[in-house]
Amino acid sequence: MSARPFTITAIPALSDNYIWLLEAGNGKCAVVDPGEAQPVLAALAARGLDLSHILLTHHHYDHVDGVPELLELYDATVYGPADDRLPFVHEVCREGEDIHLEGMGITFQVLDIPAHTRSHIAFYGHGALFCGDTLFSVGCGRLFEGTAEEMQGALDKLSALPAETEVYCAHEYTQSNCAFALAVEPGNPALQKRATEVDTLRARGEITLPSTLADELSCNPFMRTREDNVVTVARGLDPQATAGASTMAVIRAWKDRF
Ligand SMILES: [Zn+2]
Repeated sequence: MSARPFTITAIPALSDNYIWLLEAGNGKCAVVDPGEAQPVLAALAARGLDLSHILLTHHHYDHVDGVPELLELYDATVYGPADDRLPFVHEVCREGEDIHLEGMGITFQVLDIPAHTRSHIAFYGHGALFCGDTLFSVGCGRLFEGTAEEMQGALDKLSALPAETEVYCAHEYTQSNCAFALAVEPGNPALQKRATEVDTLRARGEITLPSTLADELSCNPFMRTREDNVVTVARGLDPQATAGASTMAVIRAWKDRF
């Protein structure tokens, strides 16, 4: 992988969100999913940065509510999905159309990954994946507007990216996700290792992200709905469950009440 032309830093926001700050090294920067403005403004001031781009993965308030205030102070271009609930998007992003962040040397592919919301997108490029609330480390988003079939399709699409891809999801949910994943696959050694590592990081108050797609493929039950262990567990809850989307449906429903 060639060197990434920008750095990525987490700005903690709200109770457990991360706003990702992308710095190009020339004073320009982008943020992904600014659910509130204040912590972004503080980070920009501390680093002397000019906000030139805002990327949105989906319309939920904890990903977009900072946008109007940021636009009052910065002449930034807003990229996001086609959705009437996002009136401040300047550049509508569609799968198959790359976006180029002017002045930052950054190009991202847009991936349609509906399921958590019907218009959810991801940005992928330079070895990094910004996947909002669809894929979490060791978990996945709730199905607010989509189906288990759509989540299976979305996670299959992300699974096809290179294994070394770094996963920048939007919440610090990893520790509770590990607790659920261990209920699904108590004997998965990669998961046991990840859970221990996450406990250590959280005990120190440290971030558990990014993970890699390789980590997720080995630890995340929602990325493993065709693994015999996971299908067998789903079948214990619903004898009709088969590999793939129906196992996704069963374990997602279990996680909702876990
Ligand atoms: Zn959301």
